[in-house]
Amino acid sequence: MNGEQSMNIIEASGLGKCYGSTWALRECTLAIPAGYVAALVGPNGAGKTTLLNLAVGLAEPTAGGVAVLGGLPSGSPAALDSLAFVAQDTPVYKNLSAADMLHLTRNLNRRFDQPYAETRLGELGIPLTRKAGKLSGGQQAQLALTLALARRPRLLVLDEPVAMLDPIARHDFMAIMLTAAADDGVSVLLSSHALAELERVADYLILLSRGRVQVAGEVDGLLASHRMLTGPTAEADKYSERPVVHVQRGEAQTHLLVRAAADDPVPPGWEAHPVGLEELALAYLREPGAAALPGPARGRALAAETGEPSEVTR
Ligand code: ATP
Repeated sequence: MNGEQSMNIIEASGLGKCYGSTWALRECTLAIPAGYVAALVGPNGAGKTTLLNLAVGLAEPTAGGVAVLGGLPSGSPAALDSLAFVAQDTPVYKNLSAADMLHLTRNLNRRFDQPYAETRLGELGIPLTRKAGKLSGGQQAQLALTLALARRPRLLVLDEPVAMLDPIARHDFMAIMLTAAADDGVSVLLSSHALAELERVADYLILLSRGRVQVAGEVDGLLASHRMLTGPTAEADKYSERPVVHVQRGEAQTHLLVRAAADDPVPPGWEAHPVGLEELALAYLREPGAAALPGPARGRALAAETGEPSEVTR
């Protein structure tokens, strides 16, 4: 593991943001290791944009602090030099052409890979002469992503990047982001409601609920430590001593999403199935009181050592 991979791209400690009397985010403690495509998920108003804005230095914390890329204060020149942020609503200047946007971004940044940007826009069929305001919502999102990637960042932060995209454009957008992550070693943090897309690309999950971190951890570890048990509804209450995250009760059969290892014994008459990211995230989203969090300030190294990435609390 090299130095880049062993550092945390985002480290938040007791981070909070209050607007008037409303805490948009509170007591947020996180350590997201480098090298992941990290998904930030949560219901509307959970605090995702607030967390991203704090991480990239667009907002000042009310409590605690946040650093990026191995301890650089968020918003510092060194941090800004190495991260690229694409805000919600695809921020492009509508009256400028794609070529103007490239020119502007090149002049505002120390690094800008013009050939990469031109090639990518060509592959996407986005004419350089067309005004950004005349591009479709999806093309504007692709232009914003291209500008961000051409800055050759070490950390790419995206706030709901695929919200405007059709299914194929969504798929392609995620593929491009994955290629950047795999080929250029870019760490990615993106917020999204598109759980099915995230299932394909995310290998780290942060779930926010009502301004608090509800779940955080490596996707593989989270999936390995949860299972779906299906069995007769008449017996469902027997298993209430298990760490049950979510109960879906039918007339005959009940599904329990539980915290359990793959080799834990299955109760007689019950079946156990592995869960996917979408199923896991939905279960926690439906149970805002349940949580799966790493211990205090535990990063990837310790979680890997112990093989125990998280614990369920209710
Ligand atoms: P969504 O999925 O709808 O984009 P979100 O998870 O990104 O939601 P935030 O935009 O971070 O949520 O908002 C979190 C809370 O903070 C909400 O209750 C919101 O109303 C409030 N909030 C966010 N920004 C401001 C602001 N500038 N002034 C006042 N309240 C704000």
